[in-house]
Amino acid sequence: MSVETPPSASDAAPGDGQRLDAAQLAEAFEMFSRASEELSTAYNALQGQVAQLTERLAVLLGALPAGVVVLDRGGRVAQCNRAAEILLGGDLAGRPWDELAAALNATETPGELTLGEAPGARRMSLSEATLESGEGRIILLHDVTDAHRMRLQAERNERLAAMGEMVAGLAHQLRTPLAAALLYTGNLKQPELAPADRARVADRAIERLHYLERLIRDMLLFARGDSLGRQRFGICDLAGELVHTLEPLARARQIAFSSSCDCGDATLLGDRKALGGAITNLLENAIQATEPGGAVDLSAVLAGDTVLFRIRDNGRGIEPAHQARLFDPFFTTRADGTGLGLAIARGVARAHGGDIAVESSPGKGALFILSLPLPCPDEGDAAQAPKESS
Ligand code: ADP
Repeated sequence: MSVETPPSASDAAPGDGQRLDAAQLAEAFEMFSRASEELSTAYNALQGQVAQLTERLAVLLGALPAGVVVLDRGGRVAQCNRAAEILLGGDLAGRPWDELAAALNATETPGELTLGEAPGARRMSLSEATLESGEGRIILLHDVTDAHRMRLQAERNERLAAMGEMVAGLAHQLRTPLAAALLYTGNLKQPELAPADRARVADRAIERLHYLERLIRDMLLFARGDSLGRQRFGICDLAGELVHTLEPLARARQIAFSSSCDCGDATLLGDRKALGGAITNLLENAIQATEPGGAVDLSAVLAGDTVLFRIRDNGRGIEPAHQARLFDPFFTTRADGTGLGLAIARGVARAHGGDIAVESSPGKGALFILSLPLPCPDEGDAAQAPKESS
């Protein structure tokens, strides 16, 4: 006979547990399917957004006035926008960049190139970057033809304005001594003038005429600009020659004049006479600015691939306000100065690829440094014959 026994506690537990697990599993499944549904909705939305962004990017690239070219690892055009195709002409897809770049010509401005023949040539600025993934490069092209044309026009206008200013300045500079000379010579006609006074007035007229002559000579030197000769000469030879010329002037003004040249056999290539004239001018200025008993020193030293002519004096020095104007044509603080000496000297230095710098403070003298690049060892072997300057 079989007796039904109630399920023991130990039997009931696993049965309940199994039912519970199934319910939990069902719930978990539901949760999972809900989550995956949400995920797939989010994914779809994301995909929609990506498509929208890609579309927007394509519209933006298409509308961008600059050309964008993406190159693959092999340097071929993987992608480009319309502006790039218009700038470089035609279908660019798959073409090697080197071939496209070969049609671009370098200009005097780094990063700017021209495409095509003048007068229809286009000018573009080009910049390049490596893609972050390292998978290729991106090239940005910008048509700067109009901007360049406007820049040239502005420069031309500036030059014309400067020329106008210069002509006005010249006329003014000439008029003052000329008016004085006219006045003095007019006085000479006065019959009642005593002979001694007549001689004095005549001297003044002559002195003003000499000043005019000097002024015109300096103006011509200033305007001569680039018509400089080109000879090879020893730096120490030039320094020695200058010392020889300037020593009597310094002695006459009781100024101690010292000099040194540490350049050995080093040579310069350029217009010896014009460079000598520029340094002479700096030395004359130094002597004029120094009281009797003072000192002027000229030294020539090599610094890397440059030679420095240092002209130092312990004279009155230069006020900061004047320092900014020293090299302006016609700036002078001397009654008989033309104000062209430093402008000419700097012009000569710059025409040789060098420059003039100045260090000074009032009462503490001045140091002018004329720097010039040394020629390459084989440079200028076919140097021109020296040009005579008047
Ligand atoms: P100029 O000698 O005819 O005046 P420069 O162009 O040679 O013309 O010099 C311009 C001005 O610069 C001078 O009038 C003077 O005021 C100033 N200057 C030049 N060199 C020195 C110097 N070594 N010390 C003080 N002032 C100087």
